[in-house]
Amino acid sequence: MTTIHAPLNTKASAMLCPQCSSPSIQPQDTGGYNVLCGICGWRGVASELVSMPFYHEFGSDEGIATALMNDMRNVIAVHAGKPLGSFLLKWGFLKEPFDGADLGRYLGAIAKAILTAIIEENKKIAEEASRGK
Ligand SMILES: [Zn+2]
Repeated sequence: MTTIHAPLNTKASAMLCPQCSSPSIQPQDTGGYNVLCGICGWRGVASELVSMPFYHEFGSDEGIATALMNDMRNVIAVHAGKPLGSFLLKWGFLKEPFDGADLGRYLGAIAKAILTAIIEENKKIAEEASRGK
């Protein structure tokens, strides 16, 4: 399989916590602070955040999310589509002859759930690292 890489021609910047370098910054509107780090609990104002510029190939920030989801969907379809299809047939979620679109919907939902779990676990790992575990 050949992978074609697009040029990294879209400039973006990640705003990071100055204390733990996490990108999990949440807007706040209390006590003179307007940002909160969701990992280490640091509070401050947006101008104190560390800006880390980077380049990507996805055209926009939404493009990054779309590419991430498409990549996961592709991994699921290529590497687990057949056994997951057999599982869905075995347990009655699909019935023969099944519609490929229905299998695609299940694989998309599975990919979304896996990606959500990865992101949530990544946040837990970052929180533990910030506490020195
Ligand atoms: Zn932090």
